[in-house]
Amino acid sequence: MPVAWVSCAGLEVPRGAAQGREGLDGVVLRDIVCAVQYSAEFRCFSGCAGAWPVTQAIYRCPTCGGLLEVAHDLEALRDRSGPAWVKLFEERWRKNDWPYGSGVWGKREWVMPQIPDSDIVSMYEGGTNLFWAERYGQQLGLSDLWIKLCGNSHSGSFKDLGMTVLVSVVRMAIRQQGLKVKAIACASTGDTSAALAAYGAAAGLPVVVLLPTGKISTAQLVQPLAHGALVLGLDTDFDGCMEIVKQLAEEGHIYLANSMNPLRIEGQKTVAIEILQQFDWQLPDWLILPSGNLGNAAALYAGFRLMKELGVITRYPRLVVAQAENANPLYRAWHAGKKTVESMVAKPTQATAIQIGNPVSAPRAIKALEAMNGIVEQASEQELADAAARADRTGLYACPHTAVGLAVLEKLVANGTIGKTDRVVCISTANGLKFTEFKVNYHDPNQTIPGVVASLANPPVMLKADYGQVVDVLRKRLAG
Ligand SMILES: [Zn+2]
Repeated sequence: MPVAWVSCAGLEVPRGAAQGREGLDGVVLRDIVCAVQYSAEFRCFSGCAGAWPVTQAIYRCPTCGGLLEVAHDLEALRDRSGPAWVKLFEERWRKNDWPYGSGVWGKREWVMPQIPDSDIVSMYEGGTNLFWAERYGQQLGLSDLWIKLCGNSHSGSFKDLGMTVLVSVVRMAIRQQGLKVKAIACASTGDTSAALAAYGAAAGLPVVVLLPTGKISTAQLVQPLAHGALVLGLDTDFDGCMEIVKQLAEEGHIYLANSMNPLRIEGQKTVAIEILQQFDWQLPDWLILPSGNLGNAAALYAGFRLMKELGVITRYPRLVVAQAENANPLYRAWHAGKKTVESMVAKPTQATAIQIGNPVSAPRAIKALEAMNGIVEQASEQELADAAARADRTGLYACPHTAVGLAVLEKLVANGTIGKTDRVVCISTANGLKFTEFKVNYHDPNQTIPGVVASLANPPVMLKADYGQVVDVLRKRLAG
């Protein structure tokens, strides 16, 4: 029987020792006791009875067939006050001590408390920059606009935040419970597969990814190839890949890494906590989030809800979910006043990562929108392309999904929903460098993005190596 290790506040102790308070004292007693007090488990999202260990390969409620969520022992977590949690998180912030160099594991008690240091698979994700978009904001008439650049992460997207948790739990389940995993697998529009392949490779676990052929960027395709994953390109869209991977999971061929698995949401919710932390624990007024499968909307709410339950905040900021007009099932449902999201066939969009017609986390997102006085807005291909170009001209380098969020921001400012002095955070979900084709095609003199007039295109000027020609162009193009 292997020794089970538990850890907290940098200490790692055998579970048996941690359960005994006798004979221990001082700081060690406090730390060890806190380690065993916190726990999280799977429960039905809709409230059916039952709980399951997070190490179990279970993805649906056995009673209703619906989504699961990770439930934390809130009573145990209330052993610290809100300010005491804030102090602890501040002490760990961006420290290099394992595993606190990770923005996710610096909040480990709120994320996945029972996982030992030795099972954590991390590449120090999170801790991404939240910066003032001064010049872009000025152009929109906004004085307090911020970008949370989640794409400045190991694999170039916010998906790393959830994947570190999922792969760590799988490793713990294999080591502690003998869970048999032939491979961890996901369907993906590109960023999830890149993150899973990286973290699986770091853990030494086999990875399978199902991708819609021709619907992801070159960078996204090459990432899992480079990490040694088995890459299956299917002649379908994301929703078609998702149907197949769900069946593979249900029949036990693979362990499912899509955000239907709520472990991912536990890591992704740290974006909410980080934003608050980076504002010295003061709430912004608005959060704008591009979303396709809608797990990230649920994750943001999960983060703010936990902070409210534990006394760090007393209210919620408002949430805006931004969808591409060509893949807008949530927008359609929300504006029709419906509580359920009907699936649709998503049309092609430059925002390929959110080209999803049947969002798995739709029930979770509806709940988030209701709690956070939310808004759902959409952006056309022309609007997202122009928003990206405008933002890039001010120094941003917006991926097409972030551009959906920016285009929606521009609309909500123009119609007066967002006030000129409101504090607004746009969540940038991926690094623009992963979407080079989008940028190249926009700035291509031949205007190669279907249905888009690239009025801000800035193609290169090609010249002979002739000093006079260079001077001529400078005279024409530069003012003064
Ligand atoms: Zn249920």
